[in-house]
Amino acid sequence: MITIAFLGLGQMGSPMASNLLQKGYALRVFDINQQTASELAHKGAVVAKTPAEAAKGAEFIITMLPNGDIVREVLLGDRGVSESVSHDALVIDMSTIHPLQSDALISEMKKKGINMMDAPVGRTSVNAVDGTLLILAGGMPYQVERARPVLMCMGNELVEAGGPGMGIRLKLINNYMSIALNALSAEAAVLCESLGLSLDVAIKVMSGTAAGKGHFTTTWPGKVLKGDLSPAFMVDLALKDLRIAVDVARQKKVPLSMGCAAEDYYVQASEEGWGRQDWSALLSLVRQKAGILGSF
Ligand code: NAD
Repeated sequence: MITIAFLGLGQMGSPMASNLLQKGYALRVFDINQQTASELAHKGAVVAKTPAEAAKGAEFIITMLPNGDIVREVLLGDRGVSESVSHDALVIDMSTIHPLQSDALISEMKKKGINMMDAPVGRTSVNAVDGTLLILAGGMPYQVERARPVLMCMGNELVEAGGPGMGIRLKLINNYMSIALNALSAEAAVLCESLGLSLDVAIKVMSGTAAGKGHFTTTWPGKVLKGDLSPAFMVDLALKDLRIAVDVARQKKVPLSMGCAAEDYYVQASEEGWGRQDWSALLSLVRQKAGILGSF
């Protein structure tokens, strides 16, 4: 029977570990919170006293911890995983941590002869319970293939992110986008409310437009991603509409911080010569600001 050490049994880790138990893996668990560890013990897991004890002899070591400092402590600290882990084992960090911390950990573990990859998850604790997480697997192809059967006990979709450290980078960008969009959505919803619009009607309309669907799959594929900036909807017209929305919001005292930040981009795009080009040219503006040259 394959033994897995699971470290970090919180809202996510606990149901993920339960799913591994259900699929027939032998589980050794560790968490500084004794209660959550003993709940897993009732389901058949062996509770370890230290990360080193959990990792000893395990084929896979999974970490699902709050942040990078804690992942470091659990892996490389006193009585950490690195003190006992077999050189045949695979360490999989599924926590969401800073990519540079992840790179440093993977490299330090490698220097100790320990095989490690990143595989953070998308979706929520509800999906952790259902075993329907989205797994964003970093790591070398041979690591991903080895981890796949284990990871697929916790998720129903695995994306190969493109190499070591790419899983955590993909996760970071996904979160950046959805977290920022949450703020933009809040502004739009409050603007609806203050103008006496039904949010239900607005949600119905916006579910069918780029506003709700996002630009990656609607406006960009046929335009900027193909290098075609001929206008379907011009930057200057978008700027005009954005300014009207910002002005209406100001009259209603609705804060549009996200809208004002976007206005800055559209103004710059217009001033730098993209005014009569497609609004997806904002990608070109941001690429230029990032020092990325050449066509897409
Ligand atoms: P959580 O706070 O519920 O769980 C963290 C667990 O780690 C706790 O049980 C805590 O006791 C334990 N822990 C803390 N320090 C420890 C240590 N030194 N040794 C062993 N265990 C220790 O957090 P969570 O929601 O389960 O999130 C875990 C990770 O997953 C985070 O990196 C989070 O960003 C990420 N994530 C969370 C969600 C979500 O919806 N909650 C979704 C995707 C990713």
